[in-house]
Amino acid sequence: MPEDPTRIYLDHNASTPIAPAVSAAMRPLLDDDFGNPSSGHWAGRPARDAVGAARRRIASLLGCDPAEIVLTSGGSEANNQVIKGVVLGAASPPHIVTTAVEHPAILEPCRFVETLGARVTAVPVDGHGLVDPDDVRRAIAPDTALVSVMHANNEVGTVQPIAEIAHIARDHGVLFHTDAAQSAGKIPVRVRELGVDLLSLAGHKLYAPKGVGALFVRRGVELTPLVHGGGHEDGRRAGTESALLAAGLGAACRLAETDPCGTASAACATACGTDCGRGWATASC
Ligand SMILES: *Cc1c(COP(=O)(O)O)cnc(C)c1O
Repeated sequence: MPEDPTRIYLDHNASTPIAPAVSAAMRPLLDDDFGNPSSGHWAGRPARDAVGAARRRIASLLGCDPAEIVLTSGGSEANNQVIKGVVLGAASPPHIVTTAVEHPAILEPCRFVETLGARVTAVPVDGHGLVDPDDVRRAIAPDTALVSVMHANNEVGTVQPIAEIAHIARDHGVLFHTDAAQSAGKIPVRVRELGVDLLSLAGHKLYAPKGVGALFVRRGVELTPLVHGGGHEDGRRAGTESALLAAGLGAACRLAETDPCGTASAACATACGTDCGRGWATASC
């Protein structure tokens, strides 16, 4: 967006601009490297390399193995894949526990799977928008297949006690998913420390373009795919990968990991100073 001193954009929770380092990383894929990442010949090579590098960068930000990353069209698709994939993969329609404050990209797929016979319990939050882990514990039933609790809320920013809730789910042998669309790139999001099985992120909330996101699927977790076709993404999501969008998301994850203040603005860097601990933006950023 051209600089306009009469306007200040304050809605980065709705969408961020594309960072200069992100558009620079995408440029060669836009102009030159049009090949199909699956092609065995010379034209596919740069595109395949770009997708591989992007997957490693996303995995590095999340602290997981690149093979545990499924590229998606964004946060909504990642969330739909989790809710519908779990229900479609169950022998009979299961029970799901979620919260009353999830993004529509969780709540609407939950409503949809109710029409397939699944049961959904949405636990409430307190006056600060916080989930009580004990409410999650009490909501888990013998047929619960999934607990899905967002990491940071998109309206009020409440950060949920994900590690504690994930622990409860694991104790009950139930899969745990978190929607990290609003936290990835802003606060540490490390899947092993959080103890999650599944995690969604949305590119355009961390300086990547719209239309790209990722789903972390812990090794060993099987989800019924939403999109069947070629064996892309290890059979988890068919469709020729967009090396262009993947490169954008990869570059954004790298920025978030290495230069969190620089992604936002010079003012943010000044507020943070040069020492922001592990290299993460402070709450005041
Ligand atoms: C933006 C957002 C989504 C949706 O991501 P898209 O990439 O826009 O589909 C899902 N969950 C949360 C919490 C979000 O903020």
